[in-house]
Amino acid sequence: MEAGWYEANSVSRPDRPRLNLDLDVDVCVIGAGLAGLTVAREVAQRGWSVAVLEAGQVAWAASGRNLGFVVPGFSEHIDGIIERVGLDDAKQLWALSEQGLDYVRRTILDTRMPGVDLINGWLHVSKTDNFDELRAEVERMRWIGADIEFWPEERVRDQLQSPRYFGAVHYRQAFHIDPYNYALGLAALAEKAGARIFEETPAVSLDPAGVRKRIVTPAGRVRAAHVVLAGNIHLGALVPQLAATLLPVTTFVMVTEPIGEILHEVVRYRGAISDTNRADNHYRIVGGDRLQWSGRMRSWDANPRLIARGLTSDIRRTFPRLGKVGIAHLWRGTLGRTVHRMPQIGEIERGVWLASGFGGHGLNNTAIAGELIARGIVEGDQTWRLFAPYELVWAGGMFGRVLAQGIYWGRRPVERIEQEVARYRARARARKEARLTPHKGSG
Ligand SMILES: Cc1cc2nc3c(=O)[nH]c(=O)nc-3n(C[C@H](O)[C@H](O)[C@H](O)COP(=O)(O)OP(=O)(O)OC[C@H]3O[C@@H](n4cnc5c(N)ncnc54)[C@H](O)[C@@H]3O)c2cc1C
Repeated sequence: MEAGWYEANSVSRPDRPRLNLDLDVDVCVIGAGLAGLTVAREVAQRGWSVAVLEAGQVAWAASGRNLGFVVPGFSEHIDGIIERVGLDDAKQLWALSEQGLDYVRRTILDTRMPGVDLINGWLHVSKTDNFDELRAEVERMRWIGADIEFWPEERVRDQLQSPRYFGAVHYRQAFHIDPYNYALGLAALAEKAGARIFEETPAVSLDPAGVRKRIVTPAGRVRAAHVVLAGNIHLGALVPQLAATLLPVTTFVMVTEPIGEILHEVVRYRGAISDTNRADNHYRIVGGDRLQWSGRMRSWDANPRLIARGLTSDIRRTFPRLGKVGIAHLWRGTLGRTVHRMPQIGEIERGVWLASGFGGHGLNNTAIAGELIARGIVEGDQTWRLFAPYELVWAGGMFGRVLAQGIYWGRRPVERIEQEVARYRARARARKEARLTPHKGSG
């Protein structure tokens, strides 16, 4: 684990064994991130035997490095989903995503999970004065079933003192958490339900043919009726065809040194905050008076130190009153994005299940995957087929990564211009209002 802030605040974790014997189980889960752990917990709770194989440690990857925003929906925008699957299925998919949110909330509250620090609300702020567009979007999304509200500029600037912000969409049901402690809590719950988790146990080969699937690890083998592939972008060598359907996207996260009382004057909103649809500027207050801030995506690995200056200047541009902030922790994490931006959830051949491609919505979407796959395996439930229109699409290899990075870099200057124009219009509006307001003592 490199995500120093989470490590410093982590609950205690048991040492878990490597697999060094042969096992026969109902379900073998490959990968102990949020997806694998949720599947394992749900299957074990239904009384089936489960073994989880983890190449590293529980939640060392994206699941223990993310921002902890638990928000509804998917990486794909709802308009794109309606276009692809039609209105009825889009509504059902949205409802599933709200259930994913509920799953995380219930799991934390019902089990009194320690160290998770659940705080309500997500504010998605606009950096341009597109008020009508935002209002229309809120109406459309409410129609789909979203519990959201429009916030006008005055309300946004009352909560976030940034000259760059205009309107916002407020998601009342969303919340933020410490994701690493959530993943560790899930692992403990899965084990309590009967699942066995083996760390430092990579699955090195898989024979999916036949009724009993065979999985080989360096010092032991597993035979299972069902295999769940929950390895995200790390599955590579085991099933290269699947790995090729994911585009790895690396983003950077930092936690500042304590900032002091001024942080509470400038950022009064306590929920999670995003000011883009892309990889930039997602943030929240942690540890009383520190900012956790994320952004600057890359389609290839990059040294976080090279990104640090960009992140601190993003903070300064957004909140000039904060001045220069010190960096206490800085790390990177890599998520797996599909071409259609929807997760891969379902049975890809008899007894072989895939839970992958969750993009930046992994907290909620892995909860959906865990429940649907467990129900699919144990009860024969077919709800996972709602995701069937989103097939496995090759992500374009290195060319796909270069293209994704180019689109991101290409959008940044365009967005900057749109934001400058919005601020220019705001200044013009303010000047006009000042001219129309009668001066005291005149007339
Ligand atoms: C910086 C960052 C910020 C993010 N912020 C958010 C956010 O705020 N909200 C949100 O909802 N989502 C967010 N995400 C996305 C979210 O973290 C991921 O979608 C989610 O964690 C994916 O979970 P996973 O279990 O699929 O994969 P991972 O967490 O990557 O876990 C996969 C595991 O499988 C193991 N594995 C792979 N192959 C094998 C093998 N052959 N044998 C054994 N084990 C194997 C790996 O070692 C790894 O532990 C963010 C991601 C990043 C990187």
